[in-house]
Amino acid sequence: MSERTVHRSHDVLDPATEQLIETVQLADVDRTDQAIEQASVAQRGWAALAPADRARALRRFAEVVDAHLEELALLEVRGAGHTLSNARWEAGNVRDVLAYYSAAPERLFGRQIPVAEGVDITFKEPLGVVAVIVPWNFPMPIAGWGFAPALAAGNAVVLKPAELTPLTAVRLGELALDAGLPEHLLSVLPGQGSVVGERFVTHPLVRKICFTGSTAVGQRIMRGAADQVKRITLELGGKSANIVFEDADLELAAAAAPYAVFDNAGQDCCARSRILVQRSVFDRFMERFEVAVQGVRVMDPSSPDAEMGPLISAGQRERVRSFVEGAAEPVDVLFRGSAPQGAGYWYPPTVVRPRSVQDAVWREEVFGPVVAVLPFEDEADAVAMANDTAYGLSGSIWTRDVGRALRVSRGVQAGNLSVNSHSSVRYSTPFGGFKQSGLGRELGPDALDSFTEVKNVFIATSE
Ligand code: NAP
Ligand code: MG
Repeated sequence: MSERTVHRSHDVLDPATEQLIETVQLADVDRTDQAIEQASVAQRGWAALAPADRARALRRFAEVVDAHLEELALLEVRGAGHTLSNARWEAGNVRDVLAYYSAAPERLFGRQIPVAEGVDITFKEPLGVVAVIVPWNFPMPIAGWGFAPALAAGNAVVLKPAELTPLTAVRLGELALDAGLPEHLLSVLPGQGSVVGERFVTHPLVRKICFTGSTAVGQRIMRGAADQVKRITLELGGKSANIVFEDADLELAAAAAPYAVFDNAGQDCCARSRILVQRSVFDRFMERFEVAVQGVRVMDPSSPDAEMGPLISAGQRERVRSFVEGAAEPVDVLFRGSAPQGAGYWYPPTVVRPRSVQDAVWREEVFGPVVAVLPFEDEADAVAMANDTAYGLSGSIWTRDVGRALRVSRGVQAGNLSVNSHSSVRYSTPFGGFKQSGLGRELGPDALDSFTEVKNVFIATSE
């Protein structure tokens, strides 16, 4: 899991062309220690500012990001292969999350609790230095979900982008300085997980790790954090279910299903990579679903028409292939969409029918444009199949019966469910997983609680 070879630089390749874009210098342990120590000093000054001044600084950061949306989006198209429309949304999401949490410094309320012989009040104190570790699948939004509430709560942030996708994070770090945020308050450190990421876990001045990525690395961070009782938030993998009942609007459900799993080429922890269809409508759904899959526009991600681009790397494509072409158990490919030929890490949208619920393609996170489909009998069967996984991040329920929609929503063990829709993430609502999909919640009104400590103060009033 942690690479032993230490690299000094990383060549960022355009996943759509395999062309070199930029060579990025990687931070070593000394540089990481320096950034953490500087962040610790910057944090004290930041926390001492008037709440309105911290709020204004975050609003200015949001405005500067807004003024650079197109530049950031194009950087993500080239450096990560995201489609232009997705990348624009992602840059806009950083702006929106900053704007949302810019209201927080003036609203970090404590409580006054009735007690005998005095006054009892609580404060929400910043933690100090917060480390944010970001994966390569959504470099901008996941960075913002960490740094915006962390800064709003009065912390400093050290942020490690994924080795594969450092460019937009580095640019956001520069924009923070342009916006007038204090130097060293938000440090972006491109580097290896086994070097920079590990140091975040072991450095005593880092008081919290906000990690998004694989369950295996998340478990390792959780074990490491135990040594210093370091706070953690973990957003890990998923194997989410898209459940289609016989009373659903089948046209709509089938038309939407490809985008619930093939968006970002399936490299999405919320991907609905298992489709469960009630047996009575299975064939009717699949006919429509096939048409929809073949309609997905897989092309040069810089085209405004692109709906799906390439995978992030050659290695990720090999991993995805291994679930279909190289699977231990034979996998029946039902149908496929298209993908460009030639240079680039392309893989077509692929629909498979596992022979058993034990097959890897049904159980493991593929993190690519592969979806597995199986029929179910009734509501109880659908809920049991959906829950037969170690994960619990998201899921969708398609039905016209409001009672069933609510029963199944309550029955599925996952943190983010949508009914007759595939939406997972809104910055104003909580996001996170049940079971091995994670620990804690990001976004929404309560995220600040995981970037603060509650302090209780009793003041005696008796003579
Ligand atoms: P990963 O290895 O978990 O990487 C996520 C982040 O953690 C990266 O910044 C990585 O740095 C860093 N990291 C790696 N080892 C670390 C360590 N020992 N200590 C601290 N930080 C460490 O995930 P990945 O390699 O990007 O993807 C592997 C699989 O994880 C995917 O195929 C997918 O199944 C899953 N995944 C899930 C999500 C999600 O949103 N839930 C996102 C991405 C991936 P490096 O870039 O240097 O490795
Ligand atoms: Mg990795």
